[in-house]
Order: sequence, then C-alpha cells, then structure tokens
Amino acid sequence: NHTLNFDMKLPNGHNYVQPTGLFINNEFVKPLSKSKPSIPVYNPYNESLICDIYEGGADDVEKAIDAAEKAFQTWKLTTPEERSKLLYKLADLIEQNIDLLASIETLDNGKALSSAKGDVTLMANYFRYGASMCDKLHGTIFQNNKKDGFGYTVREPVGVCGLISSFNFPLMFVSWKLVPALVTGNTCVFKPSEHSCLSTLYFANLVKEAGFPPGVINFITGLGPVGATLTSSPKIKKISFTGSVGTAKKIMSSVGIKKVTLELGGKSPSIVTNKAKEDLDKVVDNICLGIFFNSGEVCCAGSRVYVQEDIYDELVEKLVKKTESLKVGDGFTDPYFGPLTNKMQLDKVKNYVDIATKEGAKLLTGGKQIGDKGYLFQPTIFGDCTNDMRVVKEEIFGPVLSLIKFKDVKEAIAMANDTEYGLAAGVFTSDLNEAIEISNQLNAGTVWVNTYNNFHPSLPFGGHSASGYGSEMSEEAFHCYTNVKAVKMNI
Ligand code: NAD
Repeated sequence: NHTLNFDMKLPNGHNYVQPTGLFINNEFVKPLSKSKPSIPVYNPYNESLICDIYEGGADDVEKAIDAAEKAFQTWKLTTPEERSKLLYKLADLIEQNIDLLASIETLDNGKALSSAKGDVTLMANYFRYGASMCDKLHGTIFQNNKKDGFGYTVREPVGVCGLISSFNFPLMFVSWKLVPALVTGNTCVFKPSEHSCLSTLYFANLVKEAGFPPGVINFITGLGPVGATLTSSPKIKKISFTGSVGTAKKIMSSVGIKKVTLELGGKSPSIVTNKAKEDLDKVVDNICLGIFFNSGEVCCAGSRVYVQEDIYDELVEKLVKKTESLKVGDGFTDPYFGPLTNKMQLDKVKNYVDIATKEGAKLLTGGKQIGDKGYLFQPTIFGDCTNDMRVVKEEIFGPVLSLIKFKDVKEAIAMANDTEYGLAAGVFTSDLNEAIEISNQLNAGTVWVNTYNNFHPSLPFGGHSASGYGSEMSEEAFHCYTNVKAVKMNI
C-alpha cells in the first residue's frame, strides 16, 4: 500500500483512517524524493506489522521550515484572543477524540489504554491552560526617576521552532512542545519518534479541523537525520528536544547558536524514611506507580528507592506482594502496564537484569520476558543493591527497580545525589519538616512528596545536570520560547 492512508481496525472496535504522510501546510504529502513509505511500524504486543510510514528527507524538512517561516509572518501578529480561540478549539477536539487517540497510542506504543487516556486528558488540559495564558504574557516595567526616564521589557516570539520528541508519551509531548511555542506566537516543525508516531499523525487532522492556518504546525516523520536537519538549520531559531543524553550530545555539536531546551534521561531516586511507616501501603502504591507506570518507559521513573533500615523488611514484603499482583499484558485489556515499545528496549531491559544479577543484586521478583512474541516484561525488583552497581547508576527505561537500604537520612541524600542526572525525586515521610529538609537538598528539577509521577500544567517540568535544561509546562516554558527585549526610554 503506497497511498497516504491506511484503513485501520483496532481491537477495541475503532475503525478509522490512519494518515501516513508528512503534514506540511495542513496537507498530508509524500516526501519529495520518495514514493513509498519505508519505515515499518510494529505492534509491540504481538510484533505484527501495523503499517509503513514515510521517511522525510532533508528537502522535506526544508519545505516544512519554509512553510513555517512564511506562516510565522502572520501568526506572530495574531492577537492573544485569536490564538486562544484556536487552542481552546483544539483542546475540545482532543477531548472529543480521547478514546480514538488513546487507542491509536495503545496500538502503536503498547501502553495500557487507561494510561493512554490519562495522557490524552493531560494533553487537552495543557492546551486549555495554554489557551488561558495567551493574554497573560507580561513584561516588566522599570521606573527609575524622572530624569532617567523609564524602561520596560517585552517578550517576543523567536520564529520557527524545531521540536523533536521521544517515543514514550507521543501525544503528551506533542502538547508539551506545541503549547508554549504557539501561545507565544511561534510556528513549528515537529519530528515525532519513529517508534511511535501514528497518534501524532492522526492528531494532525485535528490541527487542520481546529482551523490553524497552514504552516503554523507541521509534522515530519522519519529517523535521526530529520532531527539533525532541523537542529542544524539556521532558519530554526529554537530547538526543544526530548530524548537520550547520547542524541542530545550530537545535537549540541551541530545546533549552532539557537535557544535550546533539553529534556533528557534520569535515574530518579526516592527516599523512604522510617517516618513513612504509618502508611506503607500508600508508599508501595506510589513506588509501583513510580517505576511500573508506562512499563517504566518514563524519563522520571523512580528507578532507585532508598529505604531506611527499620522499615526495609516490611516495605519489601508489601512491595513484592503488590508487584506480583500487577496485571501485565495487551494494552487493550487494560493492564497495569503493557509491553515495552520496541525490541531494543526489551533487549536493554534483559541485559540489565543479567548485569544486576552478576553484580550481586538480589532478584526479589520478576526478571523475565512474558511470552515469546511481543515485548512484555515482568515487573522486576532487585534488593540489597549498592550505589556502585550499574543497575543503580544507569538509566534502564524499563520496569526494573533497585532497592537500597540506608541507616541515616544524610547518607540517603548523599547517595540519591550521587548521579550525573537530576530530573526528579521522591520523598516519603509523614514528617513535614523532614520532607522539606530532604526536598531542599535533592538535586532534581521536580521533587514529589508522598506522591509520584504527578504532573500539572501550571508546574514546570525539567531537569538539572545531565537531565537537561529549560522547562516544559507552566509559565517557565513560555520564557524558553521567547526572546526578551528591553526598551529604555529617555523622553
Ligand atoms: P532518542 O534520543 O533515541 O530519540 C529521540 C528523538 O531524537 C527521536 O525522534 C529520534 O529520531 C531523534 N534523533 C535521533 N538522532 C538524532 C540526531 N542526530 N539529531 C536530532 N534528532 C535525532 O531517545 P528515545 O529512545 O526516543 O527516548 C528515550 C530517552 O528519552 C530516554 O533517555 C529518556 O529518559 C528520555 N526522555 C526524557 C524525557 C524528559 O522529559 N526529560 C521524557 C521522555 C524521555
């Protein structure tokens, strides 16, 4: 099938037309120099071929950038009310299509349908938040004295933004990047991950339906070189990248002088103190959510948990029991989590289980692939880990948890901070002073206290250290997509 559309039938009864082309100027088109789609998309639950998508070339990226540059000339002049109306409309369309968008994401990415619906709900909420913020982008006024006049600042859009994303939250990350770019008057060329882009392509239909002018939002599918063309283009004024540290390093060597946001990996720690004893069931629920949500394919996964010695044994018992009760399976049967997204991920997880075992970590539960077709893996916990083990130090991006026992809280904070990353962290205690004290000392862009993986559009999300810089969501993100101009008056 070499057309731009595939007729799809989803296991939960949805029949729809899947677009597979590049989305430029509000139209799905074939690449300029390729007539056939060449990237196969597999169902991660059973490895069957879903369809093929097109691989954009450098010429297609150029075409999309030119479309976005042209659109920028009028989009930057739109009023906040005009942008807001379109964003509200798009939020409504997302909400009306939650079930279908989530189902496509489950098919393509493998995630549990309820998780996918949660992601799409957050996506709609964030578009609505953005819509409500269009007329609230403020500069500042500086008033000195009459003789010296006064000054003020304005925030201006930067131009065409190159947005590059990872495979684990396809639609949610579309919103994390598009919303601040559009609210602040920029236009975009977005490159979704080659491992999960079907829901994004379907979403492009809604962009057109909402009435966004042609060229404001463009999607180019493809492999790494599509991203590389974006990052090296002088016409692109801002790059926002979500992905691995390795790719980020390549990007930084070719990006030139542009604004950059990097949302990278992590090895996020949680600290559970003796004072969490009152409600260990709640702690266990949050630890599971932290590491097993979305099969552990979460940048801020709570993948290493430091537990104070008095409660270690009781916590381990409860945690293993809960973990062994979690349903893992086809995303459409609504499990706790579905398969990993691709074979590379599965192989990586298997490899880390071998490494951990050789390093002397104690396998408490899990450790094996489920079935022999598809990429399901058991929720896995290693106990008796130490901070020098690779399973504790390196990002696995799968459902593998390391537990480390500690004596005093100071020691736990030092071990938690002993990492190149700084994305997120968890603190579990019923003592508010202890919670604040620990939160203050952790090197992380986000600290969750007695909760985990808990997001809101009005709070920023972003990393420190090797986890990157810049923010997604909240007013902080708007600063990442604008240039500030100071005007000093002396009249
Ligand atoms: P990846 O780095 O392999 O790919 C990310 C994107 O970059 C893809 O779209 C890919 O095609 C593109 N790309 C590849 N080579 C490129 C190049 N040379 N120039 C420009 N773009 C290029 O990452 P992944 O495997 O898709 O995602 C997993 C990683 O992402 C993990 O490390 C995870 O922690 C991180 N992540 C971070 C966040 C966050 O918000 N901090 C969120 C999700 C994932």
